[in-house]
Amino acid sequence: MSTQHEFKTEVKQMLDLVIHSLYSNKEIFLREILSNASDAIDRARFEALKDSTILENDPQWKIQILADKEARTLTIRDNGIGMTAEEVEKNIGTVANSGTKNFLENLKNNKEELSPELIGQFGVGFYSAFMVADQVTLVTRRAGDKTQGTRWVSQGDGFYTLETVEKETRGTDVILHLKEEETEFLEEWRLRKIVKKYSDFVEHPITMEVEHQEPVLDAEGKPAKDAEGKPVPPKVVMKEETLNSQKAIWLRPKNEVKKEEYDEFYRHLSHDYQEPFETMHWSVEGQADFKALVYIPQKPMWDMLVSEGTPRGIQLYVHRVFITDSCEQLLPRYLRFLRGVVDSADLPLNVSREMLQEARTLTLIRRNIVKKTLDTLADLQKNSPERYDTFYTNFGAVLKEGLRDDFENSEKLQNLLLFSSTTLEDGKRTTLADYVKRMPEGQKEIYYLTADALANAKNSPRLEAFQKKGYEVLLMTDPVDEFVIPSLESFQGKPLKDISKGEIDLESEEEKKAKEEERKAAKEANSALVTRLQELLKDQVQEVRLSTRLTDSACCLVDAEWALSQQMLRMMRAMKQEVPEQKQILEINPDHPLMATLRTLLEKNPQDPRLEEAAKMLFDSARMMENQPLENPREFAKKVAQLMADGFKA
Ligand code: ADP
Repeated sequence: MSTQHEFKTEVKQMLDLVIHSLYSNKEIFLREILSNASDAIDRARFEALKDSTILENDPQWKIQILADKEARTLTIRDNGIGMTAEEVEKNIGTVANSGTKNFLENLKNNKEELSPELIGQFGVGFYSAFMVADQVTLVTRRAGDKTQGTRWVSQGDGFYTLETVEKETRGTDVILHLKEEETEFLEEWRLRKIVKKYSDFVEHPITMEVEHQEPVLDAEGKPAKDAEGKPVPPKVVMKEETLNSQKAIWLRPKNEVKKEEYDEFYRHLSHDYQEPFETMHWSVEGQADFKALVYIPQKPMWDMLVSEGTPRGIQLYVHRVFITDSCEQLLPRYLRFLRGVVDSADLPLNVSREMLQEARTLTLIRRNIVKKTLDTLADLQKNSPERYDTFYTNFGAVLKEGLRDDFENSEKLQNLLLFSSTTLEDGKRTTLADYVKRMPEGQKEIYYLTADALANAKNSPRLEAFQKKGYEVLLMTDPVDEFVIPSLESFQGKPLKDISKGEIDLESEEEKKAKEEERKAAKEANSALVTRLQELLKDQVQEVRLSTRLTDSACCLVDAEWALSQQMLRMMRAMKQEVPEQKQILEINPDHPLMATLRTLLEKNPQDPRLEEAAKMLFDSARMMENQPLENPREFAKKVAQLMADGFKA
């Protein structure tokens, strides 16, 4: 008896997206199903290492393609792990992967067009069958489950039926009933071509019954002749042929692998549509014995956004046997954009999860992958800076996480950083090393400013004193900078200093001495004003003080040395986290004419209501310069208009 079920909403969305956006490239449905079949065999082979009964006397791993022109069906059969009824429901009826779900959600919110490049990256594989089929049937039996199997049928219309069926052999049959206009996918030449193109390196044989012409022989074994003495035409027989070469390209010597082969294998691994940005193929002997083929993609994939969990970009093989793609020890999180395979000769085949956690070999492999990647990037930076810049635009934000997470490679990572700065044109970036080279004599620290956007950073009044002094300031606008830059305390012995925090000290001892008197006088002259402003703004700011940062602007807001930065608070709010109450410091510029006016007002009448008005406006304008919202923008605008009316004399 069959039962009817409805797809989860996200599956319907997915179906819709897949069918509509991949249509021009619909032949990939075969690649997707073959790759599922191959994965299923990998898993069965892995389980069989521990429990050989699941082999059920059928140890020849194989994927078969069966084309039936009369029934208009294309069947892809594997003798892999198969699925239980529950697994069918879980894997096929829902979108299990949370990354995929988030991605779909984003897509919906942004009304973005789903490009073929994007779609292949997540688990859409199976659904692509509906591009060419009006009905898909899955008959599957979990390896080891006696003869009880499951039949799943759907027309891709949002519903599917499930039924218990007898199934002799383990594994899965995917049966596509092709649409009338898609019968080309039953043609031998067409199938052969697709397999070669997309699935040539699949490790298991993909076979098909193909027509062979066999000469007809007579009793003596010579070509047979008919009654009239003419040669008998050859007989057409069906023969099973393996369509793919099954070459594991990572095991082949580098100089024997063509670029197209590398690229195709990358597409297979990553489901990316484009070619890889960089291909790294190397082998290591000695402490650890392994071969690795690792790629850097052109563009970030959706999993870059996922900040938790084990990165799954690198597949671990032992002697060509797939072990896992989810192994924490293999890849640090900050390199989660990599895709590739590692084949180790040192691990036992039946290595268990627990053993993987402790395996020293994996630590060695990881170190090596990290080293190779960072060295490759350093080369790129040196030899083709423009290409490196492209890489950095795409992956810099993730790479930077390494500053916090990988002390061992801290120095290499520091050299790979790029930043915008006050002296560079928009779009240009500098390394820390080049910044240090440009530092004028007397500059002791590396200065930086964080902000939510470059334009805001460039307009910050906090930069004034630095600009006057001719000191370059790095401008950091990547949210992750807030989290990682503090772990970079210094570079080449020069401390890094956030110019939004604490006091600024740009003067040499002589300069300080020369200005000592002047400072003292300014302090005295302004002390009453500072005290008064502090009283008036006690609810808004932590402190009012004279600034050493400002040259042109009247005032600015800064943070205490150990406070959280405004950019950090902004992010915490965006992430709906509890934000600690933290007042800023208002710095005023004693040399600004406005301060002279305020000093006079205060002297004449300490209770002058205009002082309070001025205090509020100073605070509001300082917030505006930091791109922070005003408590009452309308009130502010009104005051400005009034002042203009009073001040502009026609
Ligand atoms: P993906 O392969 O990217 O996970 P699919 O939609 O193609 O996404 O498949 C969903 C899941 O269904 C797979 O992860 C796997 O668990 C299961 N599955 C698909 N095909 C097979 C198969 N031939 N044998 C066993 N399980 C399969």
